[in-house]
Amino acid sequence: MRKKFKFSQVITPTGRMGKRGKEMDHLQVFEPGEILTENGMIIEAGEKTGDADYTEEHFGLIAIPGLVDAHNHLVYGGKRVEEFEMKLRGVSYMEIARAGGGIKSTVKATREASREELLAQSLRRAFYMLKNGTTASEAKSGYGLNLEDEIKQLEVARELGEKFPMDIVPVFLGGHDIPPDMKKEDYLTLLEKEVIPEVAGRKLSRYFDAFCESGVYDTTDIERMFRAAKDYGFKLRLHTEEFTHMGGIPLAVEYGAVSVDHILFADEKDIKLLGRSETAAVIMPTVSFFLRMEKYAPARRIIDEGGLVALGTDLNPGSSPVESLFFAMWFAVFKLNLTMEETITAATINSAHVLGIAETNGTLEKGKKADFIVLDVEDYREIFYRPSETHIVKVYKEGREVFGIEPYLREMGM
Ligand SMILES: [Zn+2]
Repeated sequence: MRKKFKFSQVITPTGRMGKRGKEMDHLQVFEPGEILTENGMIIEAGEKTGDADYTEEHFGLIAIPGLVDAHNHLVYGGKRVEEFEMKLRGVSYMEIARAGGGIKSTVKATREASREELLAQSLRRAFYMLKNGTTASEAKSGYGLNLEDEIKQLEVARELGEKFPMDIVPVFLGGHDIPPDMKKEDYLTLLEKEVIPEVAGRKLSRYFDAFCESGVYDTTDIERMFRAAKDYGFKLRLHTEEFTHMGGIPLAVEYGAVSVDHILFADEKDIKLLGRSETAAVIMPTVSFFLRMEKYAPARRIIDEGGLVALGTDLNPGSSPVESLFFAMWFAVFKLNLTMEETITAATINSAHVLGIAETNGTLEKGKKADFIVLDVEDYREIFYRPSETHIVKVYKEGREVFGIEPYLREMGM
């Protein structure tokens, strides 16, 4: 059935590729706007579209593309709220680690959780992502850190994508940390000999990701993992320059990585390199907020140099228990100094580009999935001008309403 949706405004980036530099600042605005869909796909978006069997009119509301979260660890066991309180009370990182906190506690909880428990916990988080407008997301592994539990996390991510109305791109984060029960050298060998071949063989992920950080893996270790992963056809991503300058960016670019993520400590050379390379910069500003850091990633400079910037929540129990990508978008405007248009581009088509789904997601155009969110604002700039609320009224996934507050509004005569 053909369905037509009418709005006061429809805004969208355009195209099937990520946007770089100045291109990021451009959005298509239809005022009024319509979206014509059939079988969950967009036939046309514009000021006026074709005939439909059924029309839904939303005067005074706008539509934007469903958000795409480019960096997300939503499949994990447990939570770390006690640790959060300890930090607020001034307990040091080392003391927290001695008390069994930190990433190692999440590894333990993830390993102990059954597949069903892990799926149930992840589903609840995914619901809050969807409620806040995310219709596609990455889901990383990396809390298993052994063959069995990395596979468990990736299979749960896949199942989540099958059961829940959200496109999920599983990413194998085999190099997230050194397992608590292994020496680094032994784990690197295990990755090369067993885990990477097995994940590739089972086709659980097309991406390999790792964490380049002082006390975790240095560039020599990362290069070793990248070589092994590349041999098995994985595309590469890298968490790097998050807390120290590691030299991960030139390495990732040399290996043709899809993205470098975090990059708070990127220097001028790194910024210029990203300005002219195919490797995207994925930024998660809510991590700086949550860890109460003054420093934010140089996203503005990277765009000015012509680079491609995408946004993620980094949803994880330690440094960003944040489900809402809108929350990251507000920080992009207020702390990263991106324009409102660049921010929307970063959270839609550019994130879709990083996840390899830009052909089908990230814009409202013919041939793409009918994933869009309806906001109770008259003008898209109000998304940032009134930043305490998303103002989401409905979320559509492939033309189907998957979240809505309209009945409540109607009851109140609004
Ligand atoms: Zn991460």
